[in-house]
Amino acid sequence: MTGPRLGIVSAIAQEQRGLLDALQSSRSVRHGNRDYTLGALWGRDVVLVLCGIGKVAAAATTTSLIVEFGCASLLFTGVAGGLGEDVRVGDVVIADSLLQHDLDARPLYPQYEVPDTGKSRFAADAAQTQALHAAAQSVFGAGSPSLIGAATRQAFGLHAPRVHRGLIVSGDQFISTRADSDALRLSLPDALAVEMEGAAVAQVCHDYGTPFALARTLSDRADDSAHIDFGQFIHTVASAYSLALVQALLMPGS
Ligand code: SAH
Repeated sequence: MTGPRLGIVSAIAQEQRGLLDALQSSRSVRHGNRDYTLGALWGRDVVLVLCGIGKVAAAATTTSLIVEFGCASLLFTGVAGGLGEDVRVGDVVIADSLLQHDLDARPLYPQYEVPDTGKSRFAADAAQTQALHAAAQSVFGAGSPSLIGAATRQAFGLHAPRVHRGLIVSGDQFISTRADSDALRLSLPDALAVEMEGAAVAQVCHDYGTPFALARTLSDRADDSAHIDFGQFIHTVASAYSLALVQALLMPGS
């Protein structure tokens, strides 16, 4: 196995199913109420883990990956709700930076600022993010064959996926009403997508100086239709996208 050990995190099982199937010579370690699966993915030394839903679960898991399992870098793959105008279900968003939209310690600190860091936006690692973006372009860019069969594309009304890059916001809330997503758009107009873990991973990685990157497939538009077929979507579409993306990242040119 080659390369520094990479921790690959997802929140829920369907997001990671394909990766787990592709993992070679694996063994599982139970730690802090999570299963960490160690092995090789396309020759790279990796640890796969499901962190569970929400910021605390993500922060605890990230800490374990770095401290207990010696991961030198982290990658998060999962799903998110779309906020940006042109971000549609089935598109892929790569995070340049992440912010906790539900963090508000005013008047002690400005809204969104993580106390005593002077920061509200935590940057993903530039080089790793560039590599992830290139991988996403190779998998989803113009001319790439669709990973999803025609019937499924039709069932979900999927267009050819587009790759976006920018701000992703996280909070301990599933955003599923138009009023809530409108409020987020108003206060954070450059946010492309909303989810429940990424900014927590970013904060812990910042504390440890560990580089990380994050990609999310859009499962919903974070509005009143956000619950519809969510489970079916991550099962059929998001897991295939995560698998293809990680393979392209670890085996460029494959
Ligand atoms: N009912 C779902 C609950 C998933 S919670 C289930 O069957 O398990 C949503 C998960 O997907 C979180 O891990 C979060 O990061 C992401 N997510 C997708 N769409 C979201 C949205 N609109 N708002 C917040 N998180 C979202």
